[in-house]
Amino acid sequence: MKLMLLGAPGAGKGTVAKMLTAIDGSVQISTGDILRSEVKAGSELGKEAEKYMKAGDLVPDSLIMDMMEKRLQQDDCKKGFLLDGFPRTIPQAEQLDKLLEKLGIDLDMVVNIDVPREIIFDRLCTRRTCSNPDCQEIYNVKSNPPKKEGVCDKCGSPVVQRDDETEEAIAHRLDTYNEKTRPLVDYYAAKGKFKNISGTSSEEVVKVIKAELGI
Ligand code: AMP
Repeated sequence: MKLMLLGAPGAGKGTVAKMLTAIDGSVQISTGDILRSEVKAGSELGKEAEKYMKAGDLVPDSLIMDMMEKRLQQDDCKKGFLLDGFPRTIPQAEQLDKLLEKLGIDLDMVVNIDVPREIIFDRLCTRRTCSNPDCQEIYNVKSNPPKKEGVCDKCGSPVVQRDDETEEAIAHRLDTYNEKTRPLVDYYAAKGKFKNISGTSSEEVVKVIKAELGI
């Protein structure tokens, strides 16, 4: 499947994407995960992106588009992909339209996961993430803690609170979402092949997506 997952930080895009990859081997493409790996690796892109990410600001569109143009042409995308956290601005969406046309790729659907802000804020404050850049499994201290405190169930690496998941950075990320990313909902709704799903359970969201795709 070739899907785009829209929604605020903490809406559950990553969890839903991971559940969908298990269905048909489509790959999850999370721009946030890729950027965090680049930061850890100390690459030029990572160094440039880090200052924006720490502050909860968006990384400039040009860096994101260069990165995604390369990523979408990698072989594993041929089976299908789930865009998670990209696009995040109208200019990114417009450039992605052109890129997909150039690469001859048609998206099956754009899904917006709609979750109330209070729930999102609470989720992000209690979210913890595996620090291994190749894993980045997501936990929640209240609803889904790792079996052993602070240790990833999947790979055994430390589970940490992200630098951009302090209350201040979260509030800023949600404001940035409202200003820059939420307008994408109307942008894609107007184009068709769009589904808004209100729901706080990732299992429910996946069920609706499967029904829509007839799988
Ligand atoms: P995420 O893990 O999706 O919440 O992303 C973490 C951070 O990475 C964001 O707060 C941004 O600083 C940056 N980021 C991720 N995806 C994008 C994107 N498509 N455009 C700009 N910045 C991004």
